[in-house]
Formats: sequence, structure tokens, C-alpha cells
Amino acid sequence: MDESILVVNSGSSSVKLALFDKHHKKKASALAERLNNQDASARINGNLDPIELPEGANHQQALQVLIETFNQKELLKGPPMAIGHRVVHGGETFREAALIDSATITAIKNVSSLAPLHNPVNLVGIEAMQELFPSVPQVAVFDTAYHQTLPEKAYRYALPKHCYEDWGVRRYGFHGTSHYFMAQEAARLLAKPMETASIISAHLGNGCSITAIRDGKSVDTSMGLTPLEGLVMGTRSGDVDPGLFDYLSGRGVSAAEVHTMLNNDSGLMGLSGHTNDMRTLCDLADQGDKPARLAIDVFCFRLARYIGAMTASLSHLDAVVFTGGIGENSAHVRQETINHLGLLGLDIDPERNQQHGAQSNNRVSSVDSRFPVLTIPTNEELVIAREANRLANA
Ligand code: AMP
Repeated sequence: MDESILVVNSGSSSVKLALFDKHHKKKASALAERLNNQDASARINGNLDPIELPEGANHQQALQVLIETFNQKELLKGPPMAIGHRVVHGGETFREAALIDSATITAIKNVSSLAPLHNPVNLVGIEAMQELFPSVPQVAVFDTAYHQTLPEKAYRYALPKHCYEDWGVRRYGFHGTSHYFMAQEAARLLAKPMETASIISAHLGNGCSITAIRDGKSVDTSMGLTPLEGLVMGTRSGDVDPGLFDYLSGRGVSAAEVHTMLNNDSGLMGLSGHTNDMRTLCDLADQGDKPARLAIDVFCFRLARYIGAMTASLSHLDAVVFTGGIGENSAHVRQETINHLGLLGLDIDPERNQQHGAQSNNRVSSVDSRFPVLTIPTNEELVIAREANRLANA
């Protein structure tokens, strides 16, 4: 056995691996992309040199090649001591990470209708690793689990109650692993116990969500039944009027077309008509591109509204935290968003913000700000590695 922990994130056409040592220090990573396509490719540790995959390799074949490569490079010397898997949806069944056995697999399958694009491929990753390492304990870490502490008033929609009782229609929330990490890190940086931490955490990547954390627990979040609700995202609309479906169906647009539009053609991409890349949008806006400017404005305004909304669940606030590709790197988005929130007494320090808090203990707020605003690089892989190690040894 090798004293390491392997983290597997199996997506629809890709699989990512991260290898941690027993002290939870990351020692290697690997990525296979465009799986099931002729041009499937793989890389290790961000190297540009590709690793050869069989043509049209599937998840199982890619994982086998990546593990063999770890072995050849002596990054892995025998089976790891634990394997952690990211699983998108745990429904109401999983309030925390779970050791994988046949009952866990059945339960993941049972909630798959809630995440038909994600849970089945997560299971492919689990089954592939079970075949490669039959005697290694494996753990599922769910994107939804951290939000299972939402009170009913926050997770219920105002729909006929049978929608919830018969079909499970409720707010589940996603990015839970990232929000949990932000809460822990913010508590550490502010020298507060996690059990009393009161945080508003914004995960802003290609997918975006915001969570209210009270006493270290998630009590409200912007994503709902699916990851489509809430903030403006890269290609997802976030909140729209549900009357849109009826209105567009009257114009000959099918439900399937509306689904595609809301998920793939909306958000920053839809508003700008150019791209879902915030970096490019900021450059275009600087050059006077009006749709790019509008996309950024709508993104920041919606985010500011949600920060305000999240205060309804809190009795005090220790910090507002930004993470994800946009949250960690876009000083402009942080500034424009917080500019809307002067009434809450939030205030950005432009210099700290430009440095992403690097010289100021992650703080990008000014000394006059009523509450600290922090930038914290998220690390979902680390949470999964810790959970896998904890449960494997339990
Ligand atoms: P993620 O899904 O967390 O990788 O985040 C992807 C998003 O982060 C994309 O919209 C990127 O354009 C954005 N992003 C990454 N780096 C920067 C940057 N330096 N400035 C602005 N946005 C960035």
C-alpha cells in the first residue's frame, strides 16, 4: 500500500485525478478530456506532453492509463490507502460523505434522476476504481451534502406540497464542498471557531452560487433543485421568471429548447453574445464593448442582490468571502459588486483588491468596512481527500 489518498472527479467527458500524501499535501494531478471521442487526450501534472490513450478511450480506460502513469513515475507505489470521489447529488439521503458499499451505490443510483447528467458518470468513476483497487476503501463526497442543514423555510418552494412529497422538488444547493471549505478557511483566518462562524460565501466560477453560513452550517443557498437557479453564470441564466416557459412555448420554442437555452446559451455568454470568459469580457468592456459591459453589470448586480438576500438568514456577519476563477481573480467583479452594498457598510480597498488580498491576510475590504471581505482560493479536492482519509480510518 502507498500512504496516499486519491481524489477522483469524474465528469461527463472528462476525469480529473489528484493525489495527496498522508499529510494531505497534493503531490500529483492528472486530467483526461474529450473521453469517448476520437481525440481523447490526457495529461499529468499540467504537463503539455500528452499521455497516450486508446482511440475513443472511455472513463475506465482513461483511469487505467492515468493510474499506470502514476505507477511508472513512482508517484504511486501500490494501491492508495483511500479513494475519494466527487458525487454531484446526494438528494436527501446523504447529509455527509459516505463510505462506498453496495447500499451507497444503490442510494446514489436512486437519486440519479435529480442529476441525470452527473450522477451516472460519477458512478462510472466509482466502479472503475473498484475494479482497479478492489480492497481500497472508497468514499463519496456529495456537492449537496453541506446544504442538508437548510431549514425547511429555505429549501421549500411555494409549490403544491405534493411536488415535494411525491417528486422531491425542493432546493438542494450545490458547490457544498467549496462553501464548506470557504467557511473553514474564513473561520481559521479570522481566528474564530467554525461552530460560530457566520459567513456569506460566493463561489464564482463557470458555475456560480452563494451561501449563507450560520454557526458553521449552510442555512440558505442560491442554487436549487438543479444548478440552474440563482446567480448569473458563464452560460446559465440563473433566476428567470418561470412564466418564461409558457411564454416561449406560445412562440413555438419547445421545453427542450428552453432547457438548452437556459443552460448553455445564457448567462455571461448570452448577454454578451461573445464568450463566457470573464477575463475576455473585462478586456472587451474596457475597449468599449457595450454587451460585454452589460453582461458584467448584470452579473455583479445580481450577485450584490443575493448578498443582501443572504443577510436575512444571519444575525451577525464575520465575512463575505469570494472564491472560484472569477471570485479569486477578478478585482473588477469584487469592486463592482461591493459598490452596490454601501448600505451594508461594505467597502473595498482598491490596492488590497488589486493584489487579491495577497499582502493583507486575504482581506480586500478597507479598514473602514463594517465587515471584512475576503478572497480565498477554493480547494474542493483537499476537502474530498480529508473526508476520504477520515472515513477510511473510521
Ligand atoms: P472556474 O470554473 O472556477 O475555473 O472559473 C472560470 C471563470 O474564471 C471564467 O469565467 C474565467 O474567465 C474566470 N477567470 C479566471 N481567471 C480570471 C482572471 N484573472 N480575471 C477574471 N476572470 C478570470
